[in-house]
Amino acid sequence: MLGLNLTIKDNDIVDVTGSLYVKTPDALKRLMSELRKGGYEIENLREAKHRKDDGVSVSTMEKDGWSLWFAKLPDLRYGLCGSCHQLISTSGIQSHGHKCEKCGAVTYYDLIDGSTLTFVFNNDKERGFLSPQLRMKVKRWDTEKGLLYLYDEFLEGGLSVVTGDAATKYMDKHIGKFHIIEENKQRLVVFKYDLVWNRDAAVIEPYDHFGSYYNHEIVKVWKGKQYNEYDRLPVPETISIYESWHWAPLPVTPNLHSRILSFAGQTDDQGWHYQDGRPWFTSGHWTEMAKFVRHFTQLDADAFDRAWPSFRRDGPGGIADIAHFCHKEAVVQNDPNIGNVLIALDKGSRGEHMTQQEVEAAKHGLGDPLVKKGLLGYED
Ligand SMILES: [Zn+2]
Repeated sequence: MLGLNLTIKDNDIVDVTGSLYVKTPDALKRLMSELRKGGYEIENLREAKHRKDDGVSVSTMEKDGWSLWFAKLPDLRYGLCGSCHQLISTSGIQSHGHKCEKCGAVTYYDLIDGSTLTFVFNNDKERGFLSPQLRMKVKRWDTEKGLLYLYDEFLEGGLSVVTGDAATKYMDKHIGKFHIIEENKQRLVVFKYDLVWNRDAAVIEPYDHFGSYYNHEIVKVWKGKQYNEYDRLPVPETISIYESWHWAPLPVTPNLHSRILSFAGQTDDQGWHYQDGRPWFTSGHWTEMAKFVRHFTQLDADAFDRAWPSFRRDGPGGIADIAHFCHKEAVVQNDPNIGNVLIALDKGSRGEHMTQQEVEAAKHGLGDPLVKKGLLGYED
């Protein structure tokens, strides 16, 4: 199960979408001991700070089916030095000028000759969505003196990045905050720019940069074997654990589908999804939900197995179909949201066809308080 060698008796432990559901206290005890032997650290979520901060009672967590334990492998990440190819600590590995603790080679430079930096002057009035930004090419960064040398040329770079006269005007507004030098017949703009950036003292605020120097990789090491940073290990790095005996089997009610979808990591809100009929649900989603239905609800699990292959695959359709299967009077949530408005605006602006469902969702979405606030710029 999940690539783990677990002892399971009469299905007393079931996995659904990567989480483990335990049916009895005995099974829990066995699972914990086997996970600990496998190298996992296990956090007791009844004691978790976020639970206490939110004021949620332990009995609510149990009754509502919160995960009560969180198992995780310790940090398995190491740096791999590009010069000596040895495993090193990840701590500070990606800070400008950091040196490998084994061979002394530099593992990373943020900015080198040829890197590009996009920035604004560090001034409250200038910051904001559409405030002008400058993009320039780096010559060098003297971190000891805290001086950044840039080639005197403004590069293109998207919506807010200004060039030409607009860039010159923006620079002129901030005259005195930089100086210009000539070096080997090359004009350079010099800014004060410290290694440790400080909101109060900094002259410029960086937005993004490209062309950093990397002399390392991040790898994971599990049982002596090396994996790339984003590779999946043969076992999960984290597992949520549920105690199902507090709440299962779930009775058949008009919102049972919401519970099933949520345990499968899916929203029960049709309005959240694309409204143009594009596929969302895969057989993988339904088979995970089928497991949940079989072990933790009072629904007819064989009937569910027969039914789901004909459920619609798009988000809103699939939600309606599972809801209808669970209860004839199921109440399906369909909340307006800003996403639908943005999609409709985008499609509309490109002259693309919108389905009736999309038009309706977008109209509903205009009632979303976020839309009024963010898009239209006013609040009720
Ligand atoms: Zn090294």
